Amino acid sequence: MNDCLFCKMVRGEIQPKTVYEDERVLAFRDINPQAPTHVLVIPKEHIATINDLRPGHAALAGELYLAAREVARLEGLSESGYRTVMNCGRDAGQAVFHIHLHVLGGRQMHWPPG
Ligand code: AMP
Ligand code: ZN
Repeated sequence: MNDCLFCKMVRGEIQPKTVYEDERVLAFRDINPQAPTHVLVIPKEHIATINDLRPGHAALAGELYLAAREVARLEGLSESGYRTVMNCGRDAGQAVFHIHLHVLGGRQMHWPPG
């Protein structure tokens, strides 16, 4: 057991607004959405940051993108487009240390990001 917020969601101790779930991945709505669709895709396995990814996680890392693709389809974003972002560490502003792929869409995105 650990105190990680997203692990608590995986264990069902906190109920997120789930959008998609399979054996290894969970996707739920961000509590502070930055776009009309803002979903976080997480592995059910606790991995703190991108720096903690190992070669054995290669398939799982790919599954995060396949889940993001499915979230985009469910949210009607496949054609209009969407952005995926995974922050790593202090300079990127990572706040929750369980990796998560942000899926943002439903408005025009800007570049460069802030
Ligand atoms: P990051 O800054 O990349 O670590 O993103 C963390 C994200 O988690 C932020 O967008 C938060 O709004 C989101 N977040 C924090 N707590 C919750 C929660 N209880 N449920 C859903 N999203 C959350
Ligand atoms: Zn965790």
